[in-house]
Amino acid sequence: MDTPLIPNRSISEIDRDSVLHPVTSIFDHQRFGPKIVNSGSGSTVYDESGRSYIDFGAGLWCVNVGYGRSELAQVAYDATATLSYFHSFGNVGNPPMAHLADKLLSILHEQTTIPDMARVFMGCSGSDANDTAFKLVRYYNNILGRPQKKKIVSRLGAYHGVSYASGSLTGIPSYHKAFDQPHSDVIHVSCPHFFRFSDVNETEVEFSRRLVSEIEAVILREGPDTIAAFIAEPIMGTGGVLLPPKGYFDGVSQLLQKYDILLIVDEVITGFGRTGRWFGSEHFNLKPDILNLAKGLTSAYFPLSATVISNRIWDVLTSSSSEMGPFMHGFTYSGHPVGCAIALANIEIIEREELIPRSAELGSYFLSVARDVLGSQPFIGDVRGLGLMAAVEFVTDKKTRSFFSPGRGPHRLAARLAAEEGVFVRGLPYIDVNSFSPPLCISKSEIDQGLERYVAALKKGEPEFKLMAAD
Ligand code: PLP
Repeated sequence: MDTPLIPNRSISEIDRDSVLHPVTSIFDHQRFGPKIVNSGSGSTVYDESGRSYIDFGAGLWCVNVGYGRSELAQVAYDATATLSYFHSFGNVGNPPMAHLADKLLSILHEQTTIPDMARVFMGCSGSDANDTAFKLVRYYNNILGRPQKKKIVSRLGAYHGVSYASGSLTGIPSYHKAFDQPHSDVIHVSCPHFFRFSDVNETEVEFSRRLVSEIEAVILREGPDTIAAFIAEPIMGTGGVLLPPKGYFDGVSQLLQKYDILLIVDEVITGFGRTGRWFGSEHFNLKPDILNLAKGLTSAYFPLSATVISNRIWDVLTSSSSEMGPFMHGFTYSGHPVGCAIALANIEIIEREELIPRSAELGSYFLSVARDVLGSQPFIGDVRGLGLMAAVEFVTDKKTRSFFSPGRGPHRLAARLAAEEGVFVRGLPYIDVNSFSPPLCISKSEIDQGLERYVAALKKGEPEFKLMAAD
């Protein structure tokens, strides 16, 4: 039944009565209403009562240059006034789109360890970028006359989005529940999280070796001629800020070469300085055949994604073009001139303000302060990170490395209490982890203050953590 229109409702009431929120408990939203965020500046956002919060999440890991940049607002205005939109189908281009693709390729060619990239396809979100990759590996293998080579290996704990294909690549079961996912051509292998999933007395290298052997066994079980690609985030974000264990990616890369399998690298979070380098791939010597970017590409001032393809893929696409006809994949908003203009200006800020070395430096600072103030907390078992991408993982007992029973959610309670103290952190959906990924422009004093607030939240939550741990 429709809700009658009631005059003078608050924003919270209007929201509760009209919005179906993404990734939200419908029950909680209806019962407690939403938190309304009104404005933002730098690393801080403000709610409707004017209360400030240090945003240790940069939204959803995306506001790399920080909130409220008037320079980007001006670029958006100017680009909209010049060409508010035009499509890029059927050989039509626009200047910001061409400049952005050229800029991304020149960064990759000149400033990274992943120079072998050839072309840029644009979309609107991380999810659609991964759907594009899902389709591209099929297209590539169909052209090569290998129509059976279609399956994609992903990992448990991976997050690649929520659309049908990307959601299937995601390896977090709560996203699949009742949606008839994952797609049958996606295979999930073990999560490479040493702290939680290693066996007692197993070294990190042994753990990696075991996981790589498992992947090889899966490839052999399915048949190498059926496995098209392996997809990975260089550091798994939503899964819990999971750094790859020593030797893991070296072993995986050897397998991919051995069995002629493409590598899709999802840098939707780890791109644009988040880890202290342009791209997370550079830390682990990853050589993507398909590289997916979004979030920090525009610092979320506009929804935009980029799928960058390697020479290997590009050569197959070009060689078959006359036979295949047009490349029949694309979105209304692919190469949106306003989004591309904002991306170019956002990248200029990242370069001008040297936010990438800043992320490396402040990331080390963040981690050392976090280890100091959080390492001694009774229910924090691990403090980890790289660049300005960090996390803590909850345990019931540090000595025995024991974990809370499923569904207890100490990290969700901690995130709620942290918001009450004036800092936003994320309570992640796979394991009991709070993540920290502030804007790259954050200051040391904001880091100190945010961590103090988080410690206060943990102190407040301690009696309830104890009850949860005993449960
Ligand atoms: N890939 C990764 C690694 C992500 O973290 C996300 C979102 O958090 C996505 C893909 C999906 O991006 P979007 O929410 O823009 O569809």
